[in-house]
Amino acid sequence: MRTNTHTIVSRHTTSEGVVVWTRCGCGRLQMALIPYGARGKALAAGGHDRQCPRCGR
Ligand SMILES: [Zn+2]
Repeated sequence: MRTNTHTIVSRHTTSEGVVVWTRCGCGRLQMALIPYGARGKALAAGGHDRQCPRCGR
Protein backbone atom coordinates (compact mmCIF):
# COMPACT_ATOMS: atom_id res chain seq x y z
CA MET A 1 0.00 0.00 0.00
CA ARG A 2 2.76 2.42 -0.80
CA THR A 3 3.66 4.15 -4.00
CA ASN A 4 6.46 6.46 -4.94
CA THR A 5 4.35 9.53 -4.36
CA HIS A 6 1.98 8.54 -1.55
CA THR A 7 2.95 7.92 2.05
CA ILE A 8 0.66 6.29 4.57
CA VAL A 9 -0.01 8.72 7.39
CA SER A 10 -2.30 6.62 9.54
CA ARG A 11 -4.77 3.77 9.38
CA HIS A 12 -7.58 2.58 11.57
CA THR A 13 -10.34 0.03 11.39
CA THR A 14 -14.02 0.85 11.11
CA SER A 15 -17.15 -1.25 10.86
CA GLU A 16 -16.86 -1.20 7.08
CA GLY A 17 -13.18 -1.77 6.62
CA VAL A 18 -9.81 -0.19 7.08
CA VAL A 19 -9.51 3.52 6.56
CA VAL A 20 -6.11 4.63 5.37
CA TRP A 21 -4.94 8.22 5.19
CA THR A 22 -2.21 8.89 2.71
CA ARG A 23 -0.23 12.01 1.95
CA CYS A 24 0.71 12.82 -1.59
CA GLY A 25 4.09 14.15 -2.56
CA CYS A 26 2.49 17.57 -2.93
CA GLY A 27 1.23 17.44 0.65
CA ARG A 28 -2.43 16.71 -0.01
CA LEU A 29 -4.12 14.26 2.36
CA GLN A 30 -6.38 11.59 0.90
CA MET A 31 -8.57 9.01 2.59
CA ALA A 32 -9.12 5.53 1.22
CA LEU A 33 -11.46 2.83 2.51
CA ILE A 34 -10.37 -0.77 2.08
CA PRO A 35 -13.40 -3.00 2.70
CA TYR A 36 -12.89 -6.27 4.54
CA GLY A 37 -12.42 -9.13 2.11
CA ALA A 38 -11.21 -6.86 -0.66
CA ARG A 39 -7.50 -7.02 -0.10
CA GLY A 40 -5.53 -4.78 -2.36
CA LYS A 41 -8.55 -2.87 -3.55
CA ALA A 42 -9.10 0.52 -2.02
CA LEU A 43 -12.02 2.82 -2.57
CA ALA A 44 -11.05 6.44 -2.58
CA ALA A 45 -13.47 8.63 -0.69
CA GLY A 46 -15.54 10.78 -2.97
CA GLY A 47 -14.75 8.99 -6.21
CA HIS A 48 -12.97 6.22 -8.00
CA ASP A 49 -9.90 8.17 -8.93
CA ARG A 50 -7.00 7.56 -6.61
CA GLN A 51 -4.86 10.07 -8.39
CA CYS A 52 -4.25 13.32 -6.64
CA PRO A 53 -6.50 16.03 -8.11
CA ARG A 54 -3.95 18.65 -7.26
CA CYS A 55 -0.85 17.32 -8.93
CA GLY A 56 -2.28 14.37 -10.89
CA ARG A 57 0.00 11.73 -9.41
ZN1 LIG B 1 -0.51 15.51 -5.14
